[in-house]
This record gives sequence, C-alpha cells and structure tokens, in this order.
Amino acid sequence: MKQRKSFVVGNWKMNGDVIANEHLFTALRSGVDRQLLAQVDIAICPPVPYLGQAAAWLGDTEMLLGAQNLAGYDNGAYTGEVSAAMLADLRCKWVLIGHSERRTLFKESDADVSAKLARAIEKGLGAIVCVGETLEQREQGRTEQVIGSQVQAVAAQVAACDPAQIVIAYEPVWAIGTGKSASPAQAQEVHQQIRQLLEKLGCKSAQIRLLYGGSVKPGNAAELFSMTDIDGGLIGGASLVADDFVAICRAASLA
Ligand code: PEP
Repeated sequence: MKQRKSFVVGNWKMNGDVIANEHLFTALRSGVDRQLLAQVDIAICPPVPYLGQAAAWLGDTEMLLGAQNLAGYDNGAYTGEVSAAMLADLRCKWVLIGHSERRTLFKESDADVSAKLARAIEKGLGAIVCVGETLEQREQGRTEQVIGSQVQAVAAQVAACDPAQIVIAYEPVWAIGTGKSASPAQAQEVHQQIRQLLEKLGCKSAQIRLLYGGSVKPGNAAELFSMTDIDGGLIGGASLVADDFVAICRAASLA
C-alpha cells in the first residue's frame, strides 16, 4: 500500500458543451461515491467557460474542480487571460501547468511554467506540473535529460511549498491522445527518476504525488497504477466517457 493517496485527474481539453456536460456530470455523480472518494482524490478540469457549471454540478460531492491553464500574471490588463485568483474564486482547487499541448502549440517555456506555478501557489491552488519527452527525444536517448531540465525549472518552487499542493504529471508526448501508452515499466522508470531528482533537489519527494498520463484506459490503468512511484493518472480522452473515467478511478483506488 502506498503512503500517498491516489489521485486521478480528468483533462477535458477543449471539449464539451452545456448539454453534453450535464450528461457527463450526471453519470459521474452516480458513478463516484463517497467510498471511492475516500480512497482516491478525483478532479475534473473542464474548459474555463464551464467551470461555473461544473462547480454547481459537483455541489456537495467531494470531487474536485481544476482548470487546464492559468495566466502567469496577477489580475490586470491581460486581455483574454484567466488569473489564479479567478480560478480560486470559481472554486477550483487544482490547475494544470505546462501540459505538452501548451508547451508545443502555445510555445510555453519553462520560464512561463515557473511564472504560472508561482501565481498558482500564491493563490493557494494545487498545481499539476506536466513534464514529458517527445518521441524524437526518447529515440535519441534524451528522456532523462529532458525531464530533468523540466523538473529542475520548478524544483526550487516545489521545495519551498507544501508537498500536498504539488503534483508532477509525467506525460510522454508520444503517448498523449495516440492510443499508445508507455508500458508500466517505462513509466515507472521515469517516475522513479523524477522522485529521485526531486529528493536530490531538496523537495519532500516521498510526499509528492506523481501521476502518469498518456492514453490511460480502463484496460491499462490498474497495471500502470500498481507501479511503486505512480500515484494515479492524468486522463485526457477517457475522462470524457463517464464509465471509462470511473473505471480508471476504481483502478486507482485499488493500487
Ligand atoms: C492528456 O491530455 O493529458 C492526456 C493524457 O490525454 P490522453 O489520455 O487522451 O492521452
């Protein structure tokens, strides 16, 4: 039994509409009971326009609300941006930072990730910092180096804050949305490297939850989550299918 409570986070990405969300919330509410939530923390990260709708639907359940991104600035003249203060106001407890789609499509740098992390921590949000290598980097044998530099970019901030407020999600870019998950052994190897590096850099690594993300499905979740250093998952596509997401949460509860 791991000393860290399992955590499963659903990243809806830019999907959903008011009606479809209602169906998903209704199914989630009936599939996720208190007993499950006692064993696994569960968060969903809908798109920003639906955070209010999600907060209302989650209501008195202990499922947690998260966002997919935030600004690296405080409130002010930043047209189109959403601040950490606004997310906290909307009852978000968690926020994803540095998802590979943000790093690749929106050119977010390690410096941007660090600024966003600072804003999240200041406002009391839990931060899920995503790291991961591309297929090319893996094939060049650079996985440890790439992940290492992404982790080092936030390590001082991680060391300075409550370990309960930080999660690192290892998401190999080649596994996201491709249907090709890392094998449990591949994922464990990188998770172990991350935990060892965090320890070396002065973080309370034994208390920090590390999630795996990349084509997690009901069929592979249990094996991935059984690995020593994997404390749950960051789930994209499968988080939009209530039965799949609940099955993944159940797998995490048994890990
Ligand atoms: C993700 O977007 O973080 C993700 C892991 O996606 P998928 O589960 O669809 O691979």
